[in-house]
Amino acid sequence: MITTDLHKAVETLMKGELVAIPTETVYGLAANATDDEALKKIYALKNRPFYNPLILHISSLKKLATIAAEIPSAALKLAEAFWPGPLTLVLKKQSGISNVVTSGKETVAVRIPDHPLTLELLSRLDFPLAAPSANPFGQISPTSAQHVYDYFGENIEVILDGGECQKGIESTIVGFENDIPVLYRLGSVSLEDIQRVVGEVLVYNQESGNEIKSPGMLASHYAPRTTTYLTQDVDAALNLYPDKKIGLLLFQNTFENSEVSAREVLSINGDFEEAARNLYAAMHRLDHLSLDVIIAQELPNTGLGKSINDRLTRASKKI
Ligand code: AMP
Ligand code: MG
Repeated sequence: MITTDLHKAVETLMKGELVAIPTETVYGLAANATDDEALKKIYALKNRPFYNPLILHISSLKKLATIAAEIPSAALKLAEAFWPGPLTLVLKKQSGISNVVTSGKETVAVRIPDHPLTLELLSRLDFPLAAPSANPFGQISPTSAQHVYDYFGENIEVILDGGECQKGIESTIVGFENDIPVLYRLGSVSLEDIQRVVGEVLVYNQESGNEIKSPGMLASHYAPRTTTYLTQDVDAALNLYPDKKIGLLLFQNTFENSEVSAREVLSINGDFEEAARNLYAAMHRLDHLSLDVIIAQELPNTGLGKSINDRLTRASKKI
């Protein structure tokens, strides 16, 4: 059920069941992080492979020491700069953190989400919440309580309704190698903003290592069911599909004369933050129209534009 009843959410989590929670990034599917049986329900419901670890959500920086065994000075700087907020830190874990949370890794991912309802929920619990996004594995992340309900219906006992997600794409994930920050996943905090706080940041290169550091980096992820193409040249892409039912996913409102079945504009004024906030809801809408193809337009590749392009790339084939 969709509700704003925090008391019910607390009760449900304490008895080892799942609760969908609003955050500023996307909706999460949360369980008591100290209860392995509850944690396994997340993987089962999402059909998520066990190699894909979960993010811990806490309500204050004071709790970080109970989760991370080592906190590099750059990590503390980042936490102080961005928490509560859409930045996840990957740190060496305390021995008590469950292997079901970390997929057996020695590191743990953690953040303080910036949403009043979820912060209040966390402050009423004496355990952290483990939560990935509340969508079936590989599909588009949910940015409203209704999206979560559309995916899972009554299979989630409590979906806490905190309105539409204000950031709209997942958190940025940063780990540390020899205390140097490494970007594992682009997200709602831009790379440039992180560099402003800590200077040098290594960007994890998928080709250089065979271990996927952060499975949010899987080549196909966040994907609509409709075949989606990503392009810099929308006109040329339109010409490739003359007889198809096409949906356009545009950054700004260009191509207004083209004859298509549906059109979503992420930000008429070309504002990256607005585009990020609208991205998944627009993808969900297009995906429900039984289109033949979705043609998505690449954004300028700076700041949050880069993070949005990252998600579009994983949702599409490039042409
Ligand atoms: P989701 O919230 O669905 O995006 O899932 C959580 C993300 O956090 C996944 O993409 C994981 O790869 C990432 N994550 C969680 N724990 C770790 C870790 N120890 N190291 C690297 N990435 C992690
Ligand atoms: Mg996810």
